Amino acid sequence: MNKLLPVWRAFNLRCPACGKGKLYARYLKPVETCEVCGEPIGLIRAEDGPAAWTILGLGPFLVPIAFMVSMSGAPIWLTLPLMLLGAIGIVLLALPRVKGVFIAVLWNMGRVEPPEDRT
Ligand SMILES: [Zn+2]
Repeated sequence: MNKLLPVWRAFNLRCPACGKGKLYARYLKPVETCEVCGEPIGLIRAEDGPAAWTILGLGPFLVPIAFMVSMSGAPIWLTLPLMLLGAIGIVLLALPRVKGVFIAVLWNMGRVEPPEDRT
């Protein structure tokens, strides 16, 4: 099986195994088991990796944009709140997808931890 297909499915917030069931029960809270195929997605521990990769991935784009906006001469009372809202919005949109990719990569590697290893 193609190793990128589960990653693409999880990027689209779907189960990496079947691509039909939902990946999350709530925002960033993976379902315990896939409602379609029964894959134990809840046992895959992504930990802090998605947050770190989201920062590392978006920072190189957001920092130059913030710099260019600040050099544009627009009033700071307008640009600062807009930049803040834009950055928060992009991060909130990207984080579940980055976490989905993490979950799919760990699923590809067989890193489904048994329940007794969870803390
Ligand atoms: Zn599934």
